[in-house]
Amino acid sequence: MIDLHTHTNASDGELLPEDLLTRAINNGVSQLAITDHDTIQGYLSLQNHSITQKLQLISGVEISTTWQGVGIHIVGLDFDVEHEAITTCLKQQNRARALRATMILEKLAKANMPISLEEVEQVTEGRQIGRPHIAAVMVAKGYVNNRNQAFKKYLGAGKMGDIKSGWVTLSTAVEAITASGGVAVVAHPDHYRMTRTKLMTLFDEFKAYGGQAIEVISGRQPHSITEKYAHIAREKGFYASLGSDFHRPLSYACDVGKLSDLPSDLRPVWQLFSAKDNSNNAHFEKRLSNGSATV
Ligand code: AMP
Ligand code: MN
Ligand code: MN
Ligand code: MN
Repeated sequence: MIDLHTHTNASDGELLPEDLLTRAINNGVSQLAITDHDTIQGYLSLQNHSITQKLQLISGVEISTTWQGVGIHIVGLDFDVEHEAITTCLKQQNRARALRATMILEKLAKANMPISLEEVEQVTEGRQIGRPHIAAVMVAKGYVNNRNQAFKKYLGAGKMGDIKSGWVTLSTAVEAITASGGVAVVAHPDHYRMTRTKLMTLFDEFKAYGGQAIEVISGRQPHSITEKYAHIAREKGFYASLGSDFHRPLSYACDVGKLSDLPSDLRPVWQLFSAKDNSNNAHFEKRLSNGSATV
């Protein structure tokens, strides 16, 4: 089983990176990508860990972008984690996240829900801030009953805490991933509230920037959704990816590796991976063969 979209507590997931790997191994996963939001710290912390001998760990990240006013998530897979293109992009995202957190707190304070940055940092413990961390403090302070309510009323799409400024553009994210020898993937394409026409424009632009794959399977989804995105992948010539988007063990959410198979006629995204082992040599060779080596 292969799972190419998961989170650890380096972003808004709950498990330590090694605990995520243990869970993945127990669930029969043979190839895993940790795709934390805008950070590779979880992946890096495992690079020389003995647990990675029990499954193939693919480098990964989920980059927040803004495209035509919509927040679009782009997953990057199998890139060189030391390449300047990706590290520069992630540094920019880090600054954007910190700034956005301050702006969200200002909005909440104006709405009589004061939260200090320190209170949020007690939750994140030095890791970068996401809206789920702010939601957790809102629950702790009694402003809302649960995290879902925090998103529904204050932090979710179109609400006061939905601040999109600061993220890299779609082209920057895709180009940073591909310049680093990786594959860019449109994450959970069915989650964006867009017309079909706009979604198709997104895919076309994504492809023009060098994007190669879309998540045909994202977590637990009806067969009709799989068919919809399989059809688009065939039509537009995309490779197919799949991932649980696992954040924490929950009875109603998809567990790591518990995914349906991709339709067999699609080209799976791992055909593009160069890393047959966890060494960086493979990345280096791939960059050379792409003609984009920086040495
Ligand atoms: P951010 O990366 O800070 O923009 O936060 C987005 C993250 O919030 C997503 O990746 C989800 O993990 C989480 N999220 C989105 N919507 C909800 C919701 N309604 N309830 C709880 N968590 C959510
Ligand atoms: Mn998340
Ligand atoms: Mn996402
Ligand atoms: Mn995700």
